[in-house]
Amino acid sequence: NEEKPLNFIDSIIAEDLNSGKISGVITRFPPEPNGYLHIGHAKSICLNFGLAKKYNGKCNLRFDDTNPTKEDEEFCNAIIEDVKWLGFEGEILFSSDYFEKMYECAVLLINKGLAYIDDLSPEQMREFRGTLTESGKESKNRNRPKEENLKIFKDMRAGKYRDGELVLRAKIDMSSPNINMRDPIIYRVLHAKHHRSGDKWCVYPMYDFAHPIEDAVEKITHSICTLEFEDHRPLYDWVIDNCEFDPKPHQYEFARLNLTNTIMSKRYLKKLVDDKFVDGWDDPRMPTISGLRRRGYPAKAIREFCEKIGVAKANSEVDSALLEFCVREELNVSAKRRMAVLDPIEMIITNYNGSEKLDIEMKAGENAESRQVDFSGNLYIEREDFAVNPPPKYHRLTLGGFVRLKGAYIVKCDKFDSGSDGRVERVYCTIMENSKSGSDTSGLKVKGVIHWVDKNTAIEIQANKYSALLNDQD
Ligand code: ATP
Ligand code: MG
Ligand code: MG
Repeated sequence: NEEKPLNFIDSIIAEDLNSGKISGVITRFPPEPNGYLHIGHAKSICLNFGLAKKYNGKCNLRFDDTNPTKEDEEFCNAIIEDVKWLGFEGEILFSSDYFEKMYECAVLLINKGLAYIDDLSPEQMREFRGTLTESGKESKNRNRPKEENLKIFKDMRAGKYRDGELVLRAKIDMSSPNINMRDPIIYRVLHAKHHRSGDKWCVYPMYDFAHPIEDAVEKITHSICTLEFEDHRPLYDWVIDNCEFDPKPHQYEFARLNLTNTIMSKRYLKKLVDDKFVDGWDDPRMPTISGLRRRGYPAKAIREFCEKIGVAKANSEVDSALLEFCVREELNVSAKRRMAVLDPIEMIITNYNGSEKLDIEMKAGENAESRQVDFSGNLYIEREDFAVNPPPKYHRLTLGGFVRLKGAYIVKCDKFDSGSDGRVERVYCTIMENSKSGSDTSGLKVKGVIHWVDKNTAIEIQANKYSALLNDQD
């Protein structure tokens, strides 16, 4: 491919293809169906699907559904919809379809003397694991004979043990400087109904064991995840090697997206939904894809944003103003403009009788479009577009001043009425001769253009204005 690499992962893929290490690219986007997707996920979606597309490869939409107590079909469906809306499509796969394969891999490890059943309590487990400066301690069960491990593991699957009673651990190295390698748990007993496999299983694999197997089964070439998994990569490779997979997927890490004025942890977002602080996962203030969609953000703007922020190896926080900038840029070319007055005052044009239809621009630029809009001598304008005591550089309407009504005429303000509360209620204006937009020969130069609606034909709307989800910058 002749295009310039988009980021460091793109460069790695280009190299792997050039050297013949791989013949095609297969990536995956692996959400856990325990919530709705957010803008952070969009970064991962654009990266994974984008790279597959660039190299004519494939990207799987894989549900990482190995944690039955938190997962749900509602979330799966919402995720499928959001990925599609963002403009991507992939084969839909489920980790739970590989439970049998994962079980076989665990048996293989036991047979190779690389896994054992342990009964340490969670507290002991923590204590035995050691710390960064202190080596771990071996459990007395570490050298349990293989036959015994096999038999107990079968009994675990058969439901003979209670939740938390026993675990299967990988036998790696209790003195490894990497704590993830200190005999991590790879299977646990959990009597829970799974949203797809039902009651079939009462043992479930842990993420660090399941994920590499899922990647290997799907022949993923580049398994892209966020930075916090960097320390898990040795375990990822250990599982792939010892479960004897070929070809071997490789894990690459990139910085997750953090945005100002919002939060991106699904756990936290779920709490906002469950405790009814928001109107649902698609509340327009939420950073979820469905929330942004409901807010009116175009998918293209989100893709553009993901491209702009790039893919790096260091964590940082992106200003949410950049996302808003991308949205405005896109709406500027794609949105059909309407005029709306949110806080109205009346405008009476004293030298205009009757009505007419004016051609008002809806879209500018290459794909310019216009529409017919009713105009009369009785309009509404925005309260803030008229000032009794104008601040410096105020270019809108003032007493005795001029302004252009968008797509219509230049008017001069002759007087205004205030209500008993002192607030302006109505302005009286006159249209200047020969000042109609498009055929203006008045010679008048006015700096301000304001929008308006015709009082008699305007329709009432509900306008929702949203601020940030969080007030605090951090
Ligand atoms: P959360 O912490 O919000 O629950 P998660 O990583 O647990 O996120 P998953 O459903 O497991 O959520 O994520 C699916 C994919 O999306 C993973 O590959 C993950 O790396 C990626 N991802 C999640 N959050 C972000 C983010 N903020 N920026 C970039 N990628 C992300
Ligand atoms: Mg996760
Ligand atoms: Mg999570």
